[in-house]
Amino acid sequence: MDKKIIYIYSEKLIRECNRLPNMLNRASMVQDLINCYGLLLTGKFQAVQSLDATEDELKLFHSTSYIDFLKKVNDLDNFDEFEKEQVEYGLSYECPILERNFELVQTLAGGSISAAKLLAKNKCKIAINWFGGWHHAQRDSAEGFCYVNDIVLAIHILSTAFDRILYLDLDIHHGDGVQNAFEFSNKILTLSFHKKSVGFYPGTGDLNEVGSSKGKYYSLNVPLLDGIGHNNYLKLFDKIFPSVLMSFKPKCIVMQCGADGLNGDRIGQCNLTLKTIGECVDKVLKSDLPTLFLGGGGYNFANTARLWTYLTSIIADKELDDDIPDTSQYFVNYGPTYELHIDASLQKDVNTNDYINNIVNEIALYCSFIV
Ligand SMILES: [Zn+2]
Repeated sequence: MDKKIIYIYSEKLIRECNRLPNMLNRASMVQDLINCYGLLLTGKFQAVQSLDATEDELKLFHSTSYIDFLKKVNDLDNFDEFEKEQVEYGLSYECPILERNFELVQTLAGGSISAAKLLAKNKCKIAINWFGGWHHAQRDSAEGFCYVNDIVLAIHILSTAFDRILYLDLDIHHGDGVQNAFEFSNKILTLSFHKKSVGFYPGTGDLNEVGSSKGKYYSLNVPLLDGIGHNNYLKLFDKIFPSVLMSFKPKCIVMQCGADGLNGDRIGQCNLTLKTIGECVDKVLKSDLPTLFLGGGGYNFANTARLWTYLTSIIADKELDDDIPDTSQYFVNYGPTYELHIDASLQKDVNTNDYINNIVNEIALYCSFIV
């Protein structure tokens, strides 16, 4: 019998995710919709309680000084005297210091670490953690709503069992924290699809950013222009993903499935639908490799819950009714359609055929240098 799909879940993990600025209660909405569709009762999943990361585990990537600072302010409710250090560690503006911030980071990182350990021990072939995917956090600092880089930590653990890992990032923002962490590695290949336009966060992820030294050609970037929609996105994905698979021959995939490229996201402002990301997940599943699926950004919470519920159904190979179950405690949030799937808007996709073909050709060239 096939091994069950590990589904990472714990009340504490959801509670901690719920209190992240810009994501208030999002985790509960996601879990509610997955529960209301009965997906975890299909017999395909094994729900696993995640354990908090230890300090040593956090330091597999993060600097001692960043972790020590989080510990220092963990029990304080007045951080005034640490203003300078706060800014230095990115704990202001988008990532303000939160109550029990060190414990929050332990819990957030623990989800993906727990999943990675099970994959590394061959206890499962597929694991899902929709409460992870914090791809912007850097070694020394919080960035872009991300306090800890659970992805890098998970990849470090996976690398004890798998000698070549593909990190695939579909969040509409560049996966800069993960790319930076593995810039010099030829064992971890990072491939990020993201919007790249003037003023759009984080500003990195150009086509010519390919990694350095031994890691040259093991960082790949697909910079998308405004209004990217279903057809052009899949044109790129369908050419690039197989080409990377063939050249790099990964033993394991980590896929970040940020929901902020969907139509209706106030920050992403692009035009993808659930089916766009769904088709990409389907292709990743067909590669038949051990895979860790992660969440990420997503600022239209109803659409984020829709996407991760839909992806869970694809992973479980279960069809879902398009009517949102009226048992959802957030039912009103799914109006006016009360349907699972969302439509694209009329936003113009400015990614031309020439632009797309150029990216495909450049990446094919980079792939030819991968050994
Ligand atoms: Zn994002």
